[in-house]
Amino acid sequence: MPDFARQIVLWQRRFGRHDLPWQGTRDPYLIWVSEVMLQQTQVVAAIFYYERFMARFPSVAALAAAEEDEVLRLWSGLGYYARGRNLLRAAIRIQTQHRGRFPREPEALTELPGIGRSTAGAIAVFSFGARAAILDGNVKRVLARCFGIEGYPGVAMVERRLWSLAESLLPARGVERYTQGLMDLGATVCTRNRPDCERCPVAELCVARRSGRVNELPQARLRKAVPRRRVTWIVLRHRGQVLLERRPSAGLWGGLWTFPELARGDTKEYCRREFGCTLSHTRRLAPIEHGFTHFKLTISPLLCDVARASPRAEQSGRIWISIEDAAHAAVPTPVRKLLRNLVVPADLVVPAKAGTQ
Ligand code: SF4
Repeated sequence: MPDFARQIVLWQRRFGRHDLPWQGTRDPYLIWVSEVMLQQTQVVAAIFYYERFMARFPSVAALAAAEEDEVLRLWSGLGYYARGRNLLRAAIRIQTQHRGRFPREPEALTELPGIGRSTAGAIAVFSFGARAAILDGNVKRVLARCFGIEGYPGVAMVERRLWSLAESLLPARGVERYTQGLMDLGATVCTRNRPDCERCPVAELCVARRSGRVNELPQARLRKAVPRRRVTWIVLRHRGQVLLERRPSAGLWGGLWTFPELARGDTKEYCRREFGCTLSHTRRLAPIEHGFTHFKLTISPLLCDVARASPRAEQSGRIWISIEDAAHAAVPTPVRKLLRNLVVPADLVVPAKAGTQ
């Protein structure tokens, strides 16, 4: 076994993670869901969502039979909701096209929605004992540092080099422990900031450490200025309920429930025309900043207390829902934050003139 792989395997045995809820199984469904959750979420945060998801959808058949709304509700708070929608689409495809069985080959796994090459590799290794490489963000960082790979790993040419390096390092045996070791090392020792080289099993081999370039590798992406968008949300409140609307399934927060956005113009007139609601008064709430991969969003919520509501408000995918139920619905994080503010408004509400926009 090459020295790199051997050190990782030995280290994993003694210092790696062994008790995560998705370990100790060969069930590809359990492994798949965990891998997808871990794509953008740290282990500590993912455990709660994973256990809740599994309690509700214990098998691929249970997931395939689910409503998208319920899947998104259980995904709510994890972000990157396309992952939840893709899980459901892939589960349906496994049920209908693969008779409920996961494909065993990494290439076949990548044909399923939301499963990229690295996730497919992880599923194949942990479920079927395949000899396949993985290359998630943590592994890219470890390899770039240890082998002194120059360039931003998101660039196709650099990524190709990393893939071929990852494949060349695979041991002939013990790929499962090796793969887990790479994941553990990237998550707990060779971290993005302040890696703990003293505890690292491959410190002797590490180019970045020897050349004093630990903080320079992997090379960061050239930062472009991130654009900012601004929206105003209308938080219509009536008898302990709020009005939510479902977003179109394609696009930002697709399929989730959010507050309606205010188009230009007078708020009272807009609410009367659009929702058939007569407002008693309005006030601004503290703005919410939310970051997406390609832009930042500033949400200015406008709390609108409704004196008289109309059934018309519930047309076009909108519902009146109690604040408590809304907090448990498929809503993105900013909506949940706002709902919390509505329950304990005193210290979180920014006072504004009554009756103004
Ligand atoms: S020696 Fe340090 S920089 Fe190199 S792989 Fe280990 S933790 Fe990462």
